[in-house]
Amino acid sequence: MIDIRNLTKRYGSTAVLKDCSTHVAKGEVVVVCGPSGSGKSTLIKCVNALEPFEAGTIMVDGISVGDPATDLPSLRARVGMVFQNFELFPHLKIIENLTLAPEKVLGRSPDFARRKGLDLLDRVGLAAHARKYPGQLSGGQQQRVAIARALAMDPLAMLFDEPTSALDPEMISEVLDVMTALARDGMTMMCVTHEMGFARRVAHRVIFIDGGTIAEDRPAAEFFGDTASPRAKSFLSRIL
Ligand code: ATP
Ligand code: MG
Repeated sequence: MIDIRNLTKRYGSTAVLKDCSTHVAKGEVVVVCGPSGSGKSTLIKCVNALEPFEAGTIMVDGISVGDPATDLPSLRARVGMVFQNFELFPHLKIIENLTLAPEKVLGRSPDFARRKGLDLLDRVGLAAHARKYPGQLSGGQQQRVAIARALAMDPLAMLFDEPTSALDPEMISEVLDVMTALARDGMTMMCVTHEMGFARRVAHRVIFIDGGTIAEDRPAAEFFGDTASPRAKSFLSRIL
């Protein structure tokens, strides 16, 4: 579903991703972790064409992200993205946050978009809040709305960049529960997160990025087992 080959990305003369290759299969859940500044967000942004890259290829469902001929808006419409800071539209009601892009980008009827939006809000436990504004919800609730908003576009895959790191501790689990349910439903997911409990329970694979290179890319059970590399072990011992 997501195929990354020999990806190199520079900011100016500094390579922040160096010759990175990995593959995320349909239905697979991959957690991306690593030290601050190692290139995790950059990797995710390259997949969603939010950042250009200098070398290598990224294919999403057979579409080449780096090909100038690719229609990037329609590619982005098919890859859901959830950020640390929710980034909901503050002046729109919750339900309107969910119906805007399906109507404008996918051309869905207001009635269909609204019914689907309400279904998705129900799925993340927020049906009762449809007519509120984002500012009236807690951080955890807003992040669940952000996930529902991404799902409203029927994405092929979902990308998450530290979706719980701006949340108070008591709200983290409600967001992880939604992500876990999504994973169990078979969604293809690439998640930058330091929630290692989630990674252990839900991820099929863990990618450990260090200094712009993929230092580890292996099944979660191995990553958390005795066979992890010393660098990964030292990283885990610092964050666990
Ligand atoms: P964190 O855990 O802090 O979120 P990260 O692993 O997501 O870190 P990135 O944000 O991908 O790291 O950044 C990788 C490197 O690229 C860092 O050295 C960062 O300073 C640099 N970088 C990121 N964005 C830019 C930018 N717009 N211009 C120049 N350098 C950048
Ligand atoms: Mg980051």
